[in-house]
Order: sequence, then C-alpha cells, then structure tokens
Amino acid sequence: MMTISAQIFDFAFNPYAMLSLMGIVVVLILVYLIQSRGIQNSANKWFTGFLMLLVLWGCGEFFGRLSANPTAAAFWGNISPPGWIFVGVFFLMFTLAYLDKESLLDSVNRKLLIFGSGVFWLFIVWNTNLVSSHGALHKVPWGWEGVPQTGPYFTFFLVWLESFFIASLVLLIRYYFKVKESNKKKQTLLLIIGLFIPLLGGTVTDAILPNLGYSVPGTAILLTSALGVLATYAILRYKLFVINPSTHFANIVKTMNEALIVLNMGEAVEFTNDTVSRLFSFKPEELKQARIQTLIKNETDLTLFENKFIGKLKQKEIVSNLELNLTAKDGSEIPVNISGAPLLDSGNNQVGYVMIASDMREMKKLVYNLVAERNKLSVTLSGITEGVFVVDKDGIISFFNEASEQIFGAKASAVIGKKADEVLQISDADGPVKVEYFFPKEKLSKDMVTYSRNGVRITQPDGKANFANLIAANIVEGEGINLGAIVTIHDVSKEKELEEMKLDFVSMAAHELRTPLTSIRGYLSVLQEELKTKLNEDQLSFLEKAFISSTQLAALVENLLSVSRIERGSLQIQTQVTDWERLLEESYTNFEPQAHERQVKFTYDKPKEKLPYVLVDKFRISEVVSNLIGNALNYTPSGGQVEVSTEIKEDQLITHVKDTGPGIPEQAIPKLFTKFFRVSGVLEQGSKGTGLGLYISKSIVDMHKGRIWVESKIGKGSTFSFSVPVSKDQTLPQMAIPQKGKRMFLRKSS
Ligand code: ADP
Repeated sequence: MMTISAQIFDFAFNPYAMLSLMGIVVVLILVYLIQSRGIQNSANKWFTGFLMLLVLWGCGEFFGRLSANPTAAAFWGNISPPGWIFVGVFFLMFTLAYLDKESLLDSVNRKLLIFGSGVFWLFIVWNTNLVSSHGALHKVPWGWEGVPQTGPYFTFFLVWLESFFIASLVLLIRYYFKVKESNKKKQTLLLIIGLFIPLLGGTVTDAILPNLGYSVPGTAILLTSALGVLATYAILRYKLFVINPSTHFANIVKTMNEALIVLNMGEAVEFTNDTVSRLFSFKPEELKQARIQTLIKNETDLTLFENKFIGKLKQKEIVSNLELNLTAKDGSEIPVNISGAPLLDSGNNQVGYVMIASDMREMKKLVYNLVAERNKLSVTLSGITEGVFVVDKDGIISFFNEASEQIFGAKASAVIGKKADEVLQISDADGPVKVEYFFPKEKLSKDMVTYSRNGVRITQPDGKANFANLIAANIVEGEGINLGAIVTIHDVSKEKELEEMKLDFVSMAAHELRTPLTSIRGYLSVLQEELKTKLNEDQLSFLEKAFISSTQLAALVENLLSVSRIERGSLQIQTQVTDWERLLEESYTNFEPQAHERQVKFTYDKPKEKLPYVLVDKFRISEVVSNLIGNALNYTPSGGQVEVSTEIKEDQLITHVKDTGPGIPEQAIPKLFTKFFRVSGVLEQGSKGTGLGLYISKSIVDMHKGRIWVESKIGKGSTFSFSVPVSKDQTLPQMAIPQKGKRMFLRKSS
C-alpha cells in the first residue's frame, strides 16, 4: 500500500500545496458559517454552491501539486475544471438573487445559454488541448505544468469566464449607487471590493501570464477564496440571511404571551406552549393527549367551542376573537379570546387545529371599571341641576340630561340623534347661537372651553323663554370617539326674574319719589326766598341744609333711575356733532364756585389749538364730565388741586381729570366702575356717595364706543380719563342751543 501511494503522492513538504489546502479549509468554514447562520433563501443557495465549486477547484489543485508523477497530476488536473469553469456563473446567480433580479434568468433559454456554455467549455477542457494542455506535464516547484501551459482558445474561454464576474461587478456597482439603506450599501461595497481581488490578481497569475508563456504559481483559487471570505463577512456582518425561521419560530412560540394549543383531529392536545402551563397551571405532559374537555369544563363554553370553533375550522375557515372560558387546573375559569386556523400538511390535508388564546382577565377588569365609571358619570350628569348635553362632531345630540329637558322644554328621547341646531333654540344678543360655535377653530392640543356666554336666551317649543349661562368645552380625546362638545347650561331665568323685579321696584320707587321731591325742593326754595329777611341766621341755615339734602336725594333718585335704565338696556344715546371745548368750559364754569368753596385750585388746561368737534350725546356725556370733576373736587382735600385737560389720539379725543386727592388703592381699581362699589376705609369719610357715578359714567362712555380708565397712586392723587370719538363731519348742527345751568340730578354738580 505504502509503495503505491508513494508513487501517486510526493509527501515532501510543498508550501504551494499547503496554500491550496488552506484555501479549501477556509472555504469549508465559510460553507459551515453560511449554512448554520443563514436562512435557506436563493442567494444563500447560490453562494453555497459557489463556495463548493471553490472546494472542488481547490482539491484538484491541492492533489495536483502533491502528485508524484505526471499521470496522477493529469488525473487531479481534471478534477478542478468544473470548479473554475462554473464559479463565474454561480457568482452571477448569487448576485442576481442578492439584488432580487433572478427574474432576469427566468427564461429557459437564458439559463441554457449560460449553463450550457459552461458544460460546453467543460467538454472542451476535458477532451481537448484547446484551452489547457493535458500532455507533456513537467514538474515545477509548485506542481505540474503543461507545454504550452494554455491552448489556442484560452483567450476566448477567459473572456467568457470573466464576463460573469464583470456582469456581477457592474450590477453591484449600479446597485451601490442606487440603494439608500446604509447597511445594504456597506454590504454591497464589500462584495464589490471582494470581486476585484480575483478579477485582478487571479486573472494575472492563472490566465494572462501562463497564456504569455510565463510560469508562475497560480493564485486564482486563493484569491477567489478571499472573495468568498469578504462576501461571507458581508453577509453575516450585515445579517443578509441570518434570520432562520425554523430556529426562531420555536423561540417565538416559547416566548409569546398567548397560549398556543395544537389539537389533533380527535380534539386531543398535541402541543402546548409555555404560556399554557403558566396560565392554566397544567404541566405540558399533563395536557399531552388530553381531551379538550380538560381545558373546557363548562357545558355552554364547550358547545360554543364545538360549534363556533371546531365547526368552522373543519370547513378550513379561520376563526378570530371568539370569547369563552377555559378551565385552569384548580377549576377556576379564565376568560379568554381565542383565534384559530386549521393545521394542514404539505398536501393541504387537514391534520389538526391550531388555537391561540389570550388571557382577557385584565381586559375584562378594565372594561368593567370603565363601564362602572361611565355609569357613575351618567348617573351624576342626569341628576345634577345644571343642564348638560353632548353633541358629536356633526352637531348631533348624543346626551341630554334631565335638567336640559326642563330648560329646553324637550324630552331627551325627542332630541337625541337629531341635529342640535334643528331642535334647540339658543340665541344671544348677536343672534342664534349655532352648534359650530362650540367646536374649536384649530386642532385641539389640550382640553378647552370653546364657547362661553352669559344670559343666552333659550326659547322652548311653546315660545316660553329661559335665560342661561352657557359653556361649551372640548376634550382632546374627543376626536377618537366622535365626541364633539360638552355643553353645560346654568339656568339663570329665576335670577333674571328677580333682577327684573328689583329693577321694577327701584324704578317705580324712584319715579314715585321724584314728584314729591320736586315739590319739596320747589317749596323750600320759595321759602328761602321769601323768609330771607324774616328768619335769623340759624333758621336760614336750617332751610339751606334742608334744601341741600333734598337736592342730594333728588340726585340719588336720578342715579337710581339711570342705573335701572342701563340694566334694562333702555338707556339710549342720541349723538350729534358737539363742540367739546365749549362743553368742557361750561362744566368748568359750573364747578368753579364749588372748588372755590372747598379751597381747591381748579384749572382747565385749554388746548392751544382748537379741538375738533366730537360725536356724542351732549346731555349724557356731560354727566360723565360732571361726575369725574365732582368726584375729583369731592375727594381732594382743601389746598389740593384739580386739573382738566385734553389730548387727541388718532380718532379719539381724550379728557383727563387729574387730582391731588388721596388716590385709589390698586386692588380697588378693577372694581371701581362696577355698581355700588365704593372704596372702603378712610377715603369714604366725609363723602356720602352711592357708588353709582362711575358705573353710570362707564356705561355712557361704552355706549359711545369710548374707553374710561384711571391711573392712581395712593397719597399722590388720581387721573380719570375717558375717550370719545372725533366726528368725521366737522360742522355743528344748526340749532346748537348751549346747555345752560347745572344738571341738578347729579349729586356731584350740586
Ligand atoms: P360715589 O362717588 O358716589 O361713591 P362713584 O362711582 O363716583 O361713586 O365712585 C366710586 C368710588 O370711587 C368712590 O366711592 C371713591 O371711593 C372712589 N373715587 C372716585 N373718584 C375718586 C377720586 N377722584 N379720588 C379718590 N377716590 C375716588
């Protein structure tokens, strides 16, 4: 034996043979890696094929280099050709699969062309000397070589072989520039670099040099193996084929949160996953081959299972979301949601049932809590005295509580499901309140009130009117559940009625007081005139005091009347073009004696340029001027100063009344212009005001679309200012009779 093998192989150390062997080992490792870590897809198969061809080629080269005589060398020389002939074809097939372009070679003709031409070359190589030489092998340090090394058709063969690598290269480069995903890009780049190695190196040592007659050790197999290494690295590094479903599916089944049960056609358990053991406390072996009744004890559930699950699956239908109870080992029932599909073999015959059950206990608890919460809320809402109704995004009423029924005079059953605009009549001063006002103009980012109005009028079907404060709000989550707006209505009809009664009473009382007061004041002034000489000084001063008091009372009565008119909205203004300078001068003249008496320095800062005419109700606006000047004089101690001045700002004429009085505390300012408000504390001493003057003034200025405000500093004084509109028409009306004398009903002017 030893002698024979010694004749075939020369076991003297041969580094070139060792290199070939290394190539084989490396490539075999690659095959292992790709097979164990990659999935069986088409690219993987072609790539493995490519590597196996390298092994074949390597074996031929290794044993050839080791051969002890030309006959053995020639034999091994014939082992390699299938390898080196087909590597190009296989690599191209791999590239096409990698690029998802396999369809390019779908046609039988094209396949025949490339594989057939390979077979053709193999025939030529094996049977002729046209490509590589068979005869006259002689020993060189790295093995055996023919003379000449290559045949006359070698160049054709080379072009044919390289064309596959070049085609792969072109396809990969094009793909490299097109692909966006960075891992694919890097992977493709590695393949491109890998391709250059055998294309440049191997072609030189194994083809061009031998073809020119130079004798060098071939490196093609080693360099092509280097391509294999790079490509394998690219594939594994960037996980081209690493997801292997058969191993991963087992993992998925093991770790999934749902219970997976496979039944055979006899409805006995064939397989359960870990979740089944966890949920139902059975050991897997306890369930193995157990009848389904072990898991479904309840009769109703069993019938449901047979009819709605097995029945459907038998007809090869898929079942989803069937709710029933499964029984755990301790007998407790666990609500589950089951889905399933028939289990088919490769011949499409049904062999069992696959059932997936998800635990619904948490979900049930959640739903239970939600329902309880919802019921609690709707009970609360229907019971509260505030009207609450809800509309969806199309303005259709979806909830209407009892209080709403009362306010709107309509039954919930009659309005739910109808458009709010059609069944509810709500209006404010500007006209009907439409349901669209309740929706936000832009997309909601947080819950918010979209509409809020006090004193809206709600007209019932029978014509009866109610008054209410209305607030509409939207919530962010509303969008997902088609909830439009939640509208809350606070019925203020009763308050409004009371208010009305109060106003009626006040205005009636004031009217009734007016006539006797006028005669009292009339008689008092007659007495004052007639008894001037007959009474002593004390008696005269009593008369004077009685007159002043009755005048103050008359002013109060007038103020009360004004307030009730304002409240009812019956106070109206009639504007006309007015000479503001003149009006101020008249007021100034009226107040001069009072200022003098109180020893207050009173000035009117007459503007240098003539003021434009304004558009005001002379009579009403004089009340404002008188009120402000009166207050200033009233609250400024003797020795102080009151100054009236004017200013033009755009189309508004602003009048300031500045005093050096005690000033107004900051916290009182926001309430200053409200009804009956008086600053409490030291300030009110010495003045018997009613707290109505500023309220009336503000109402009058508002009616002129002007603005009234105050700036004040405690201890320094206050400046009250208000604006009135400048008239566009600058001609005074013909019959401009100047308003003479004091307006006696304003307490301040007396
Ligand atoms: P009245 O003067 O009748 O009390 P007003 O509505 O005119 O009612 O004024 C409301 C309150 O504002 C006054 O009670 C007073 O406390 C305060 N006030 C008004 N004008 C001045 C002023 N010029 N200086 C200080 N306080 C003032």
